[in-house]
Amino acid sequence: MLQPDLIIEGGTLLTLKEGEKPLHHATVLIQGGKIAGVLTPKDKRPSFHGAEVLDAKDTLIMPGLVNAHGHTAMTLFRGLADDLPLRQWLFEKIFPAEARYLNEETVYWGALLGCLEMIASGTTTVSDGYFYQDATARAFQKAGLRALVAQGVIDFPAPGVPDPTQNLAVGKAFIERWTGVSDLIRPGLFCHSLTTCSDRTLQEAMKISLACSLPLQIHLSETREEVEEVLRRSGKPPVAHLRDLGLLNEHLIAVHAVHLEDEEIEILAENRVGLVHCPESNMKLASGMARITEMLRKGLVIGLGTDGCASNNNLDLFKEMDTAAKLDKVRTLDPVNLQAATALKMATIRGAKVLGLDTEIGTIEVGKKADIITVDLRKPHLVPLYNPISTIVYSASGADVKDVMVNGRVLMKDRSFTGLDAEEVMAKVREISDRIRS
Ligand SMILES: [Zn+2]
Repeated sequence: MLQPDLIIEGGTLLTLKEGEKPLHHATVLIQGGKIAGVLTPKDKRPSFHGAEVLDAKDTLIMPGLVNAHGHTAMTLFRGLADDLPLRQWLFEKIFPAEARYLNEETVYWGALLGCLEMIASGTTTVSDGYFYQDATARAFQKAGLRALVAQGVIDFPAPGVPDPTQNLAVGKAFIERWTGVSDLIRPGLFCHSLTTCSDRTLQEAMKISLACSLPLQIHLSETREEVEEVLRRSGKPPVAHLRDLGLLNEHLIAVHAVHLEDEEIEILAENRVGLVHCPESNMKLASGMARITEMLRKGLVIGLGTDGCASNNNLDLFKEMDTAAKLDKVRTLDPVNLQAATALKMATIRGAKVLGLDTEIGTIEVGKKADIITVDLRKPHLVPLYNPISTIVYSASGADVKDVMVNGRVLMKDRSFTGLDAEEVMAKVREISDRIRS
């Protein structure tokens, strides 16, 4: 029987279902954490007793955003090192800071800060790859976000994994600890890149991921330097090398994919590899511009990610959508490319598909999980409203998000966090940053 426990009432609904137009004055019914019904003014509305009502008048109601790639606890290093070449940024600044300052405690608070920032900007699902992932998973669990939490795998001493020969054992144990613990948290592995992981490590990581039926994430062809190094070492372009190692399948999530030849794009598409585009990180580190329009034409499924906070330096997916759309237009010198609707799909249903979650989230339809946000339209920069999708992508920012829920649980109501103590989290991270600064 339809007996909703939460009712979102009165907004303009973007279900993002293929071919569906915005529904005005819509009501979304939520029962047991799932979407139980959508009503418009012409539907007969029974009276529901005992349900919490969320007033969504003058808002857009839409699916929560999916941040398909990030290193959440890197909020700790926001603004620590900017305006440097990737290699110098990574090897001289970020890796040493991580080696020195990351531990269970710092990663936990850094991840919680990232959770606050993502909730406040409408992200409800995150794909994270980092170290000390028990701490990250605990932070996501506390925050109530949906997450794929992947243990970082790298073939040199890493935070929490001083002996690189143990990197996969650590990852496997992490997967075992977190399998089935929570409906919201899925564990997994994240191989840093082709140049920092050996062929054997990559193959073993895929073997573990396939056995557990989990995605495996990897940074792929982020810079020209990386591509050249793979060519030098293996004699093959990165994608061909991955194919020959047996790594290309629908469980692989390839992040960045900035420097790809046409043939590599074809191979990725043939093998149904999921891709994640991180335009702001690629711009800030001057890595280059991924050929998104060409990849979309080949049928690749592409999500959108912020990447870590130290190379962005924020976790606002609204800004990322805007940037993604504009960057591909300027790259191709064609304003018709990467339209707002595509950018929005990348940040929702397509990101969900890349993570293997598209049957559960990414659109608003009956039976899916109630991961929903509202965007407050009572703002000068959001008036008038001719095309809600254009408003979302080109005019709105994360700060316009009003309410956020995951699994039907409200995490932010009228811009107030319902579960987390934001002051406490910010104070802890300031304290940690004082240690990092000194
Ligand atoms: Zn990354």
